Amino acid sequence: CPDPGALLGEVSREPLEEGRGGTWSAAAEAELLERRAHFFATVQEHYFEEPPRIERGWRHHLVDTRGRVYLDMLNNVTVLGHGHPALSDAVHRQWRRLNTNSRFHYASVVELSERLARSLPDGLDTVFLVNSGSEAVDLALRLAWATTGRRDVVAVEEAYHGWTYASDAVSTSIADNPGALASRPPWVHTVAAPNSYRGRHRGAEARRYGPEAAERIAELAARGTPPAAFLCEPFYGNAGGMPLPDGYLEQVYAATRAVGGLCLADEVQVGYGRLGTHFWGFEQQGVVPDVVTVAKAMGNGHPLGAVITRREIAEAYRSQGYFFSSAGGSPVSSVVGLAVLDALRDEELQANARDVGGHLKNRLHELAHRHGLIGAVHGSGLYLGVEFVRDRTTLEPATEETAAICERLRELGVIMQPTSDRQCVLKIKPPLCLTRDGADGFVAALDDVLTHGW
Ligand code: PLP
Repeated sequence: CPDPGALLGEVSREPLEEGRGGTWSAAAEAELLERRAHFFATVQEHYFEEPPRIERGWRHHLVDTRGRVYLDMLNNVTVLGHGHPALSDAVHRQWRRLNTNSRFHYASVVELSERLARSLPDGLDTVFLVNSGSEAVDLALRLAWATTGRRDVVAVEEAYHGWTYASDAVSTSIADNPGALASRPPWVHTVAAPNSYRGRHRGAEARRYGPEAAERIAELAARGTPPAAFLCEPFYGNAGGMPLPDGYLEQVYAATRAVGGLCLADEVQVGYGRLGTHFWGFEQQGVVPDVVTVAKAMGNGHPLGAVITRREIAEAYRSQGYFFSSAGGSPVSSVVGLAVLDALRDEELQANARDVGGHLKNRLHELAHRHGLIGAVHGSGLYLGVEFVRDRTTLEPATEETAAICERLRELGVIMQPTSDRQCVLKIKPPLCLTRDGADGFVAALDDVLTHGW
């Protein structure tokens, strides 16, 4: 676990001002707690008995108002790490020059769109800039509706794609959407979650998910409701970071295209190098989608997202009106997007995700040999999941244990949370600048909790 004394000096290059940076008085903190009644903190209170009062961050560390330093194993938004100087410099410079709504052409928006298009396979060359993952998924669905003139969509069970109307409708995870089943619109159809650990088909049998989903799509077409789109994450996020079965996307994309639908890849959680092996998740499956959505990592925490598609799909949408988002791709957002891409490249963070993620996964496998509660270690790069089970044969989820382990880890200086479905998988999504030392610190803390109790 990080030593607060040693790390605090590193946490910021700025001098710590009074009342900031871990020097809050008990009275100032009590006052903040009293005033927070106006902040509607549902997700914070869902995950933490008492949400940590984080005050600042540096690289893969967070610091609370008392100067306590934590390892941030939870944050898949801040890919570059916290307090990145290149980002703050770029934002500062751009704010002084210009920020406006997105009605104009300016160099940063042109360059960001070009850089995104270049990171994708040929053909995916037209970029829409938005402010979040939910907006990106909403827009991706609208593109599919506009292009095909149809309404039905096929999504994967136990998935989360956002909270706006359309992205919420295709978010099939019950845990994330109370009442979701009752309110799911009739245009949303689902296929089984391709969970190779505890789903209907396990291990090598997981290869059956692809043909089954393909069959469902053909069936919908035969019934007169051919889908406008098939949407899924190219890496199964809600299970705690699990690769899709080999050939899954190839089979399902072929079936979707055979009935004239579009293939939508939601890269909001997994894109931008997190998987270590590739920059985009769909590359792991050797397919090319028709529409890609990205957000979270794209702005390193700044509200920024994008939808990237082929020109003719964008034109089909344009024929029905124009796209406008007040702040989507604003001058400031665009320089943030460029600074993130520069830092990812210059600091070789995808390679770091592969190296440190591989090391961490090996260390977690070692822990699994010694602690029966660990049923499996999933994932790729710095998107890993540790699944806790009460019994390795029945796979009974160790839900209460997982919550208690998270609380105890926090006491030891590690911030993380379980996945929302079943809540028995520790979701490991640290900034991509995590070091091997940081990974070892986490493993030592987890070992401690599993050995001495939670
Ligand atoms: N898609 C996926 C796969 C996500 O994980 C999320 C957020 O967790 C979203 C979309 C929605 O993104 P946002 O919270 O930026 O609206």
